[in-house]
Amino acid sequence: MLDRPLTLMAVHAHPDDEATGTGGVLARYAAEGIRTVLVTCTDGGCGDGPDGVKPGDPGHDPAAVSVMRRQELQASCDVLGISHLELLEYADSGMMGWPANDAPGSFWRTPVEEGAARLAELMHRYRPDVVVTYDENGFYGHPDHIQANRITMAALEITGHTPKVYWTTAPRSMMQRFGEVMREFGADWEEPDPAEAAAMAEIGLPDEEITTWVDTTEFGGQKFDALAAHASQGENIFFLKMGKARFTELMGVETFVRVQDTTDAPVPENDLFAGLR
Ligand SMILES: [Zn+2]
Repeated sequence: MLDRPLTLMAVHAHPDDEATGTGGVLARYAAEGIRTVLVTCTDGGCGDGPDGVKPGDPGHDPAAVSVMRRQELQASCDVLGISHLELLEYADSGMMGWPANDAPGSFWRTPVEEGAARLAELMHRYRPDVVVTYDENGFYGHPDHIQANRITMAALEITGHTPKVYWTTAPRSMMQRFGEVMREFGADWEEPDPAEAAAMAEIGLPDEEITTWVDTTEFGGQKFDALAAHASQGENIFFLKMGKARFTELMGVETFVRVQDTTDAPVPENDLFAGLR
């Protein structure tokens, strides 16, 4: 018997990523009595401000945005039943190429060893059995997501005691379906130009390369409500327009690729904790 509860740690870049990427597994495993630890690396200051003011526009105040997003994050954690929220509080680096990438204190500019040392401290404290973060491309190329991957992998190397490590991913079959639903619900959605379309085609993995499919449809309502807690962010509105049923149908199965494992649980598997209980 372990002398501590089974523990899931999710390392995310911004407030709201916990809901979109892993809201289902966080809610499901919390309901199963597993301790859930969310580490959010940045303050989300490059997000939309109150009243939809966009970063870079007059009146956009990153400090005020981060205060608002901190409250939204807490509300999302409450909905998902997350046991522990840990904030690294780096400055949001914005999208790739923005001046915020190189601003003092930005997560992207932080040396990997520095972020990893702080994360390793949390890993020592919580001793997660399962750690989840993004793939090396940060799923879609956002610098803070890439950096979250880098510090997580470095921290895991320092601590060396996590049995199972996963990167979030999406099956290509689902990305196709996603495009269809976007066209259905996004009134102002335009066909991506060829460069964008090529970048989109790189997102996710062929279905047969996905190791782990976790059915979280039972928790789709909680995932939706967690995302609704982040309604200040324009890109989330699209999902909320779908309503709970369609949202759950599209986003109810969360997929991962297992990148480290000491359990030898056979893949494909349907449980992040397969082989651990
Ligand atoms: Zn993000």
